Amino acid sequence: MSRLAVKGGMPVRNVKKNPWPKWPVWDQREEKGLLEVLRSGVWSYNGPREKRFNEAFAKYTGTKYALAIANGTVTLQLALEACGIGYGDEVIVPGLTWQATAAAALDVNAVPVLVDVTEDTWCLDPAKVEEAITPRTKAIIPVHLYGCFADMDAILAIARRHRLRVIEDCAHKHGGEWKGKKAGSIGDIGSFSFQLSKLMTAGEGGALTTSDPALYEKLDALRNCGRRPEPEAARKGEGIYGSEGDFLQSGNYRLTEFQAVLLTEALRRLPRHNKVRDKNAQYLNAQLAQLPGVLPLRRDQRETAEAYYNYSFRYQRERFKGLPVAQFREALSAELGCRVEASYEPLNACALYTPHTKPWRYRLTARHWKEIDPRRFKLPVCRRIRDEESVCFHHTVLMGTRADMDAIVEAIRKIHDHAEDLI
Ligand SMILES: *Cc1c(COP(=O)(O)O)cnc(C)c1O
Repeated sequence: MSRLAVKGGMPVRNVKKNPWPKWPVWDQREEKGLLEVLRSGVWSYNGPREKRFNEAFAKYTGTKYALAIANGTVTLQLALEACGIGYGDEVIVPGLTWQATAAAALDVNAVPVLVDVTEDTWCLDPAKVEEAITPRTKAIIPVHLYGCFADMDAILAIARRHRLRVIEDCAHKHGGEWKGKKAGSIGDIGSFSFQLSKLMTAGEGGALTTSDPALYEKLDALRNCGRRPEPEAARKGEGIYGSEGDFLQSGNYRLTEFQAVLLTEALRRLPRHNKVRDKNAQYLNAQLAQLPGVLPLRRDQRETAEAYYNYSFRYQRERFKGLPVAQFREALSAELGCRVEASYEPLNACALYTPHTKPWRYRLTARHWKEIDPRRFKLPVCRRIRDEESVCFHHTVLMGTRADMDAIVEAIRKIHDHAEDLI
C-alpha cells in the first residue's frame, strides 16, 4: 500500500488531534457590543457605530473618507457609478478574479474588458492593459489577488496617460501596503469586502474608501437612496438632509449597527492577524523555494506590508512525474486535512459570469450584446494558472503554527517522492 494519505496511508498531519485555526474569530467584545446594539434599538441607518467604524477605517487605510456598505459587490458598482461610468464605456478588469469585479461593470451597463494577468503574481498585466485601451475606456479595476499586489506604479501611469479612473478591488487586501500606502488609498476609490471568508468580516459587508470629497459625496448618496451626505445640522437632529433638487437616483446599500460592531473588532484584530499570516507566508516562500516542482508567487519589493487572503503557489507537473495538478491538490488536502483549491475560473469561461443568460437585462443594443460576450477575450495565462498551476490555501491556514507550515512543506515533499503511486 502507498504511504500517501489519499491512498489510505498515514497523513502528515492529524487534523482530529490538531485542527486548523477556525474562522471567523470573536470574543466577549463582540458579544458585549452586539448586545448593546440589540438593547439600544438603534439597529441601523447612519448609526453611531457605523460612523465610528467609517472614521476608524478611513484612518487605518490612510484616506479622508470611508463608507461601510452592504457588500463588496455593490461597492464596485457604486464606485463605477460615482465615476459617471455607464452605457458606452469600457472598464478593464483582470481575467482572474471573483466574478463580482466584472459583474459590477456589467450591471452599470458598461462593457467589462477582460485582460490577462502576469504569471508570477496572478494580477493584471500592465502591458496587456495598455493594449486593451480604446477611446471608450473609462476605468481600470486592478484586483490585488490572493497574496499579491497589482503593479500600481504601472497601472497609475497608464491611467494618468489616458485619463482613466482607477478603482482598487481590495477584497483580498485589507491592510496590505504598496510603497507605504495602504491598499484602497492608491487609486481614486478603494473597494473592500467583509464577506465571511475575507480578512475582516461581519458575515457580509463592504466598504469604499476615497480621499476625493466630490467622489465621497456621490458615494454616500448612492449608498443611501440618493440622499446627499448628512450635514452637521441634521446630525444633531436639526432638520433632514438632502435639500430639494439635490438628490441622486439610487437604492439602499446600507448595512447595520450589528455589522459595525463586528467590523470595529475585526479592524482591531487585523494588524496582528496580518503579521501572523505574513510571517508564515514568508517562511513558506523560503521553504518552497528549496523544493522541486513548486514556485512561490513573486513578492514585489515595492510591497511594504503584506495581506494574504490566500496562500498560493505554482505547481510544475513535469517535476512530479506528470501528476496532474488536480490530483496533487487532492493528495495535499488528504495529507493536511484542509481544503486545497484551484484559483478562480478565468472569466472568459466562468460558470458564474454569463452575461448572455440575461438578454432582457443586458441586450441594450446589438453591439453591446456582442461586446459583453466574455468568450471574445483571450486569457492564456489565466487559463494555465487555473488548469495547470494553481494551488491555494485559505488564509486561516496561514494563522497556524510553525509546525503547521512544516507539515505543508513535508506533505509537498512526500507527494513529490511518491508521485508514481498516483499515476
Ligand atoms: C469577495 C470578493 C468580491 C465581492 O465581495 P462580496 O462582499 O462577496 O460581494 C469582489 N471582488 C473580489 C476579488 C472578491 O474576492
